[in-house]
Amino acid sequence: MLYTTILFDADETLLDFRAAETAALHEVFRSRGLPTDGEFVDAYRSINNGLWERFNRGEIEKREITDTRFVRLFERFHVPLDGVAFNRFYLDELSRHGVALPGAEALCGSLRDAGCALYIITNGVGFVQKRRFRESGLAPYFAGTFISEEIGAGKPSAVFFDYVLRHIPQQDKRRILVVGDSLSADVAGGSAAGLDTCWYDRTRANTPNGATYTVHDFKQLQKLILGGFDMKDLQTLQTMIDESERIVIFSGAGVSTESGIPDFRGADGLYQKKEKQFDYPPETMLSHTFFKHHPEIFFDYYRTKMIYPDAKPNASHTAAAALERKGKLSAVVTQNIDGLYQQAGVRRVLELHGSTLHNTCTRCGKKSGLDAILSTDGVPRCVCGGIIKPDVVLYEESLDADVIEQAVEAIAGADCLIVAGTSLTVYPAAGFVRYFRGGRFVLINRDETPMDSQADLILRDNVGKVFESLKI
Ligand SMILES: [Zn+2]
Repeated sequence: MLYTTILFDADETLLDFRAAETAALHEVFRSRGLPTDGEFVDAYRSINNGLWERFNRGEIEKREITDTRFVRLFERFHVPLDGVAFNRFYLDELSRHGVALPGAEALCGSLRDAGCALYIITNGVGFVQKRRFRESGLAPYFAGTFISEEIGAGKPSAVFFDYVLRHIPQQDKRRILVVGDSLSADVAGGSAAGLDTCWYDRTRANTPNGATYTVHDFKQLQKLILGGFDMKDLQTLQTMIDESERIVIFSGAGVSTESGIPDFRGADGLYQKKEKQFDYPPETMLSHTFFKHHPEIFFDYYRTKMIYPDAKPNASHTAAAALERKGKLSAVVTQNIDGLYQQAGVRRVLELHGSTLHNTCTRCGKKSGLDAILSTDGVPRCVCGGIIKPDVVLYEESLDADVIEQAVEAIAGADCLIVAGTSLTVYPAAGFVRYFRGGRFVLINRDETPMDSQADLILRDNVGKVFESLKI
């Protein structure tokens, strides 16, 4: 478990504020003979939201929100009532409406049972938020509540987050996660305080944001917090990387799946499925014999299932590039054929199974890029008339001897070997790993591998998530 302390925003993250606000507004408007229709309520919401946004940007004090929102509303609609007094009346009513969002209680229960310390961090009026929180039934799961009014500053200000950090036991910032629905208050404030943040994008707005993570429902959030590697193991890996000078990353399909490229041999992999639109199993279609005898079907399959020109590098690829720039990476040895390491800027990539980005004419040997395949239909032909063949190692073909030699040399000379995203069951992966003689053999893979017992360190998680958490 990476995060053991979770700072939760309250409204629209765990509590249904919209429902509470609507119920309270209707109640107070109705009791004073004011309209409860859309126009009046919407006008209030728009005034209130505008004030909160200005507060989040640090332009106004909190008091200005509560003291002026009904005053402005009543001015606009010529209502002869005291807006400041009405606000107190409204807050009292609001404090009676604390409704947890569906699934919030189950989430908090599972996190607490797993040993997480949960805290509320909320902008709002003290007595209102406290009472609503009690009403919601969530209070028993929480170790504490931090409310802006009581601290004298609100999210996203540094004063607020500093106060919170001084008043919780967890002092390792890397083990604290801020969860909230507001990019301006929760995500911006948490990030500025040096904390990892999770944007709860319940409405699936998918806005570009600076959050460490984005989740759309409580299930994803629960998996994010409870799944994965331990922080101690991450720190061990960080130390190993810091102390190593000749790192080799040996990677497999698990690194590419996180860029949206299907795993050839995984549970959902291409090789597991009988491809309906093709009459042959993929292993057959990707063999040298098949390429020779049925090039039309080969290229049909190859274009449909093997090429992903829109795939983008993920954290695993960019971390390798960063290590290489620092002079700490000897080479990436990969079974992947997608060229994503090069796209991320890695210069020394030893591609055991070749690359979909390069092609060679089978007659004259002329080299061409991916475009030779993408911009043509059927069997791609060279200007000389020969068939253009992808530089991908097909079944029945042997690996490139020069690439093998360089890979063995790099691994044998490495002081740290990171095997990532491969179960090491596919020939010749395990064979290469045996050449490693250094003292830091790291496995990063979701599933067990036959070499687990020999590893110095194992992190069972998505490779991208691990690399993303490292400081390189
Ligand atoms: Zn040619």
